[in-house]
Amino acid sequence: MSSAPFTVAIDGPAAAGKGTISRAIAAHFGFAHLDTGLLYRAVGALALDGADPIEAARALLPEALEDGRLRTAEVAQAASRVAVIPEVRAALLDFQRDFARRPGGAVLDGRDICTVIYPDAEAQLFVTASAEVRAQRRWKELSGKGDDRTLEQVLEDVRIRDARDSERDAAPMKPAVGARVIDTSDMSIEEAVAAAISHVEMCRGATAT
Ligand code: C5P
Repeated sequence: MSSAPFTVAIDGPAAAGKGTISRAIAAHFGFAHLDTGLLYRAVGALALDGADPIEAARALLPEALEDGRLRTAEVAQAASRVAVIPEVRAALLDFQRDFARRPGGAVLDGRDICTVIYPDAEAQLFVTASAEVRAQRRWKELSGKGDDRTLEQVLEDVRIRDARDSERDAAPMKPAVGARVIDTSDMSIEEAVAAAISHVEMCRGATAT
């Protein structure tokens, strides 16, 4: 395995399959993986506890990423609220950029990886799906954990977060010009992972020549 940096940047809305695809790419190529949403979730959770979000982002410690509440719907909404603050985004920038260039390859998934964090990423993907399909997936996942939210409520949450993430001024979510768009609405997980891996293989080939 070469130790040269190689960055896979993956953006897209919540529950489109980014996490599954990112983990599969990291395992397939032996790259390190950073779920950048966790950084915003950690700041969001601290803000719910009463912290100033800018101070919390500037002082963020690795332990904060272990907080058991980070995957809850409440923290997801708090994350998207703190994520509109430019100073919060700025405080988290260097850590993400350093991770992107670590030796041996890195996969980062989020909303602005291709557009802001590392636009020179050798492989760029935008993973998406319709709001209805994403809500259905998230609802199934939440019901499995005993959450009694209805499908309509989950769809509403998805729509609110999509709007906040794509309409904000600071690093809005959008497909980068050079990114390969994968719409997973009608795909199985295996098909989506295969399409993503094949794109990364192609980019690896292009980089090697
Ligand atoms: O990806 P995840 O759903 O965990 O992200 C939680 C929230 O964090 C998103 O809704 C978004 O507002 C914010 N986020 C962001 N930029 C990223 C990753 C996440 O603004 N790179």
